[in-house]
Amino acid sequence: MSDEAFHFAEEKSSALPAEAGCWKVLTVEDDATYQASLLHNLRGLVIEDNPVEVLCASSAAMAGGILAEHTDIALALVDVVMEEDDAGLTLVRTIREVLGNDSIRVILLTGQPGMAPRKDVMLRYDIDEYWNKSDLTREKLHAVLRSNLRTWQYMEKLNQAKKGLQVIIDASRNLYSKHDLQAFSQSVLDDINRIIDNDGGGIVCSCMNTVRTDSDFTVIAANGDYQSLNGLPLTTEQLDKYSSTLALAKNSHEHQFRHDFSVLFFETSNIDGYQYLVIIDSPVKPTEQQIYLLQVFSENIRTGFANVALINRVTKVAYFDDTLNIYNRSGLLREIGSMSEQERNHSVLLLVAIRRYSDMMIAFGESYCRSLLLSFMEDITEMLPEPTSLAMVNTGVFGIVIEASKVPDAGVLEMASERTLSLSGIEHHLLLSFCRTDLALMSRLPASEVIELAEATLLHADENKQAYCEYKSVYKDQITGRTLLLQKVQKAILNRGLSLLLQPKVDMKSGRAVGFEALVRLHDDDGNMIAPLEFIPLAEASGLITLIDQQVLGMTLEAIQTLKSFGYQLPVSFNASAVDLYNRNYSKAIFSVIANKLVSPELLDIEITESEMIADYDKFDVLLKQFVELGMGVSIDDFGTGYSSLSRITGLSATTLKIDKSFVQGLEHSASDHHVVEMICRIGERFGYKIVAEGVETEAQRRILTEAGCYIAQGYLFARPMPLDSIIDWLRNNDGAGES
Ligand code: C2E
Ligand code: CA
Ligand code: CA
Repeated sequence: MSDEAFHFAEEKSSALPAEAGCWKVLTVEDDATYQASLLHNLRGLVIEDNPVEVLCASSAAMAGGILAEHTDIALALVDVVMEEDDAGLTLVRTIREVLGNDSIRVILLTGQPGMAPRKDVMLRYDIDEYWNKSDLTREKLHAVLRSNLRTWQYMEKLNQAKKGLQVIIDASRNLYSKHDLQAFSQSVLDDINRIIDNDGGGIVCSCMNTVRTDSDFTVIAANGDYQSLNGLPLTTEQLDKYSSTLALAKNSHEHQFRHDFSVLFFETSNIDGYQYLVIIDSPVKPTEQQIYLLQVFSENIRTGFANVALINRVTKVAYFDDTLNIYNRSGLLREIGSMSEQERNHSVLLLVAIRRYSDMMIAFGESYCRSLLLSFMEDITEMLPEPTSLAMVNTGVFGIVIEASKVPDAGVLEMASERTLSLSGIEHHLLLSFCRTDLALMSRLPASEVIELAEATLLHADENKQAYCEYKSVYKDQITGRTLLLQKVQKAILNRGLSLLLQPKVDMKSGRAVGFEALVRLHDDDGNMIAPLEFIPLAEASGLITLIDQQVLGMTLEAIQTLKSFGYQLPVSFNASAVDLYNRNYSKAIFSVIANKLVSPELLDIEITESEMIADYDKFDVLLKQFVELGMGVSIDDFGTGYSSLSRITGLSATTLKIDKSFVQGLEHSASDHHVVEMICRIGERFGYKIVAEGVETEAQRRILTEAGCYIAQGYLFARPMPLDSIIDWLRNNDGAGES
């Protein structure tokens, strides 16, 4: 059975006016003789078990006083002509308009036939009947009273119900504004008391409907004498007297109304599996009318519980991370958004990022990484002071709001940036970046900007491989600029805003091209070109670089095909960042290009900078070795700046070393640069690497390089990076190979 059914305890139907115990009738008559005859005719009259009590007034003015005092007068017999010709009508108008009493029944009396008031006046003032005094016999008078008193009783009930409904509507409006279960329940109790005019206490308790013992029901709201029970189980001694009724409500799923208390039953089983019991202690027995209102209100409570449950469910989906059971980004936005300026002034948003988390996702799979995150969350919450809010703001990035005074020092956090977690017997070494943002510095910014600024600061720290950074106000413009740039990069990736330039690598002895390097260019919506040095580091830090480099790989293949169609079979190198090499999709793309014979491997050459190679040598070496074994070229870019140890150099899985342009440009003036270049050339000779000099701009550099044994160069002296059609023109004019 549903909780919509109501059960009433045995109770005698108590018709109004039960409290008054009599019908009050007022006669208004200046003719004392007629007044006396009316009194005589009404004496001892009983209607529906209640006696009629008569009050008398001898003028309209006097009647006004009596009516104001006795608001429960049910009927007035009013003489039309008294102190004035229309004194009776004036009195009726006063009753309706001044006293605002629209339930009292009015019967007009007149001694002069033909003096009947106009129809519209009767209607306007809701005058029920009009009688000639001489026609109103005793029997007629009784009949008139009987029917009019019934009408009054009906109207009174309606009025009370209206008032009650108004209270219910107000209460319901109040209820529906409460989305939090505690607040809702508390308001249920207070509203019920208002509706049934109760000053007793009450409780609301709840439990999952899978477990049904009383001790599983917990008091979630209480008022009056029961306030101290909040949070306790239903089994406390103070509630013993209700236990059999509670059991009945629970078993029948129905409300139970008793003389001195009621138990309401609600459930939201189909939403969240909860049941609710509401006890209302009402020392003064509620009237039938009040119980009726309580039933009506119960319907609202039922809907209210369902709403709260639904809202909670929606909130959970919208604001919580489902596996970690902490806030997600939207949840944190909401939390920060609801902080007062005062609260922000004493709070810090600490971002904790697991570096290269997305690479770990690729390597270990999502579900494993989720378990890893769970154990990391335990680890990090143990390490940090109790947060105000904890959220997962982005994959692998936690956002933690902490009281400013409790945040550990930079040094402590830096020390904590290397963690070892063990999961399923495997040890994981996690590198963390911390970013501290004092919310006092942005007490009025929208929450979304707060988080974005903090993230941008973190990104910057990540680019510089710092374990700890702090947001400073001066960063704001810088960061906003970077955010704009990042948006441009994102757009360019989507809208084919990337293009390639090729720069020839030239054999300095013959002057002929031996290959090219593909260099990416980015065009924004306005057609402006953005230099790689501006956006590549940002793209690397944000992970967008791999999307770029995958497009570059595609464009490189097209360039190789086009060159081939013009008769030039020359290798083209392309740049890869460390981020790419961690991404399995990227290496897969290269392997599949070769497996599908889209290009012969000797025409592909991958460039990775020495410093990045050294940073994760063991990992990259395995991959680069595979490329070399397939027949591809592997160039170590910016060689000489990464401080490779000699043992590393001898074992490098590479085919080419590219001398960094800083050394080339120092050749003429710096003995040490000269020395480095000579050394690189000797290493190349000794271990079988080709050597390419980068950034050759002058004849002098060219001479020194060739003297040192370096014959291949890339530099403005020979050619600038150019679009493919210019490269073909350049090849025709400067190079003997190809079409001829
Ligand atoms: P890089 O790989 O060392 O590329 C050589 C840079 O030196 C290019 O700058 C080139 O235009 C410039 N250069 C060539 N000859 C001379 C010269 O004689 N004098 C001087 N002063 N400079 C010369 P660019 O094109 O601005 O690229 C800058 C860097 O951006 C590249 O350095 C590379 O690290 C990165 N990059 C370029 N394209 C890509 C790409 O597709 N993917 C990735 N991941 N990085 C790229
Ligand atoms: Ca390069
Ligand atoms: Ca370089």
